[in-house]
Amino acid sequence: MPAAAVAAASASARAAAPWGVPASATARRTVNPIRALVDGLALEPNPDKPVIALSIGDPTIFGNFGPPPEAVAAVRESLDSGRYNGYAPCAGYKEAREAVANYVSYPNAEVEFKDVVLCSGCSSALEMCITALCDPGQNLLVPRPGFALYRTLAESIGVHIRSYNLMPERGWEADLRHLEQQADARTAALLINNPSNPCGSVWRPQHLRDLLQLARRLRLPVIADEIYEHLVFPGERFVPMASLTSEVPILSCGGLTKRFMVPGWRMGWIVIHDPIGAFSDEIRKALNMLSQRTIGSNTIVQGALPAILENKHKTFFEDTSRTLQEHAALVFGLLSRIEGLRPVMPQGAMYMMVGLRLQDFPAIACELTFVERLMAEESVFLLPGQCFDFPGYVRLVLTAPPEQLREACERIAAFCLRHRQPQPATASAAADHVGLPFVQEPRAAAAGGYGNP
Ligand SMILES: *Cc1c(COP(=O)(O)O)cnc(C)c1O
Repeated sequence: MPAAAVAAASASARAAAPWGVPASATARRTVNPIRALVDGLALEPNPDKPVIALSIGDPTIFGNFGPPPEAVAAVRESLDSGRYNGYAPCAGYKEAREAVANYVSYPNAEVEFKDVVLCSGCSSALEMCITALCDPGQNLLVPRPGFALYRTLAESIGVHIRSYNLMPERGWEADLRHLEQQADARTAALLINNPSNPCGSVWRPQHLRDLLQLARRLRLPVIADEIYEHLVFPGERFVPMASLTSEVPILSCGGLTKRFMVPGWRMGWIVIHDPIGAFSDEIRKALNMLSQRTIGSNTIVQGALPAILENKHKTFFEDTSRTLQEHAALVFGLLSRIEGLRPVMPQGAMYMMVGLRLQDFPAIACELTFVERLMAEESVFLLPGQCFDFPGYVRLVLTAPPEQLREACERIAAFCLRHRQPQPATASAAADHVGLPFVQEPRAAAAGGYGNP
C-alpha cells in the first residue's frame, strides 16, 4: 500500500475508536510519593476535636510567620515601577543575579552574576540541576530520610534514585560507608540537603568536608539543596558546602522561600561553584538552555531582589530563628517525656523527626497506622516517615503557634498512654533501627566547635 493510503487507513481506524487521550510516559512516571501515601490513608478527624495539622511545610499557613516588611515593600515598589512587566533574560536580570551573587558569596566561595541562574523556586532549581547532570539510566544519590521531590524529579526523567542512610543517633549525619556503597559507574551526582527537611539537622563543617572528600574521590559533582541556609537556631552555624572545597564542583540551590517565609513568591536560584573548571562551559550552557524552557522566573520578584537581599533583616532573622528554637525546645521537652516516643532535637529548619518504639504499641503495626489513629482519635495530623523513605518515624512541623504545639503534644501523650503496652525488647527489634533506643549524642559545643571556614 502506498504511504498515503496507509496513513488514511490508520486515520480512519483512529476515527472509529472512542477518543481517549493517553498521558505521556514522562507524565506517568511523575509521582509525588507524599500524595500517593497520604491519599491512601484514612484520615477522618475526631469530630469533637479541632484538627491540628502539623504536616504541611508552609510556614505561612498558621498566620504567625510572614515575610520581613521591607521585602514586601520592595515587591510593591517593583510592581509600581512598571519596569518589570516584560520578559527578563531566561537566567534572570543581571542586577537580580548580581544581588544573589553578593548574598551567597563567602570567603573561599566568591561568585559573580554569571554564576547565578534564577529559577521558579528552589524546586525548579533542583529540577534543572538534576536534568543538567543526569541522563536516563544513570542514578542520583539522595539522603534517606529525605525530601520526596528528589525522587519525583529524577524518576520522571528516567533517572534512578539510590538512597544513602542518615543516622538519627549521630545528629542525622550521613553514613559515609553506606553512601560509598551506593555509588557506581552510573552515578551522575551526589545530592545533599543541609539544613535538612525532614530532620532539621545542621551538619558540622567536618562532616561536610568528609562528604566533599568522598565526592572528590568518587568524582561526583554535588547538588547542594541549601534552601534552609542560615535558618538555624541561635548558637548554631550554617556553613555553605562550597566554602569548604577548592576542588569539588557544586551546584548550590537556594531561594527566598524558607528563610524569608515566602513560598508563594517562587524565587529560587542555582549558584555554580566550579573551582577547578570541571563544569566548564558545558554545564553553564546546559543550565542556561534549560532555563529557556520556561523563559525564566517571575520578574516582579526579580525587580525586588536587590533591595530584599541587600537589607540584612537582622531583627527579622533573629526573631524567626529564636522562635523556631523555642518551638523545637517546647515540643522536644513534651515529647521526650512520652514513653514509646523518641524525638530527635533539630538544630535548624522547621521540622522534627520523632521515632516510634512500635513494639510498645501492639495494636499499631506501623507509623502509617499511628498517623491514622492519631488523626481519628486526637485530630492531630503528622506526616508518616514513609513520605521521606524512613518508616518508623513521623515528622512534625514546628511553625504552628506554641499553644497549638503544646495542645498537639498533650493529645499525642494521651494517645500514647492509651495504646502503650510495653513489650520486653527482642533481639529482632533491637536489630532494627526503628526499635533501637539511643541516646542522642550531645552536639560538640555548638558555637565553639564550629569554626568559620
Ligand atoms: C521547601 C523545600 C524546597 C522547595 O522550595 P521552593 O522554593 O518552594 O520550590 C526544596 N528543598 C527542600 C528540602 C525543601 O524543604
